[in-house]
Amino acid sequence: MSDSASILKPKPVDSRCSQTGRQALLTGCPWHDVNEMLQAAGVRPTRQRMALGWLLFGKGARHLTAEMLYEEATLAKVPVSLATVYNTLNQLTDARLLRQVSVDGTKTYFDTNVSAHHHFYLEHNHELVDIPDPHLVLKKIPDLPEGYEISRIDMVVRLRKKT
Ligand SMILES: [Zn+2]
Repeated sequence: MSDSASILKPKPVDSRCSQTGRQALLTGCPWHDVNEMLQAAGVRPTRQRMALGWLLFGKGARHLTAEMLYEEATLAKVPVSLATVYNTLNQLTDARLLRQVSVDGTKTYFDTNVSAHHHFYLEHNHELVDIPDPHLVLKKIPDLPEGYEISRIDMVVRLRKKT
């Protein structure tokens, strides 16, 4: 954790910060981009949201539970409670900056990749991994109740190691 103390400091001299636009999000200057994306989504960029957003979005596509993010925040010395982490994750989900993926009904992962995609769930280490093929489709979709349409299909393919 050698550099954990500096994690909250913006790095304006970072050469990546010269890039602009949402396309540059994952490789751009995280502090600048998080601020921009919060504001664009109508979420006020408070200190805590900025810090949590930095942890969430500054490292590429990720799948995190509230507990995992809370642990990262604690390691990065971000003064935040688990309840605030939950609230922030839900706010970011409402603002469509995150996508919720539920596994088991007990574990909720927050996905920084909000595009349509499905997941492998690695049972042995509780890890969620993107299925790279976006064209994965169900062969037969069940009849829908009258008056309803499909909002989204979340597929989680559970994997265990061969014995
Ligand atoms: Zn994903």
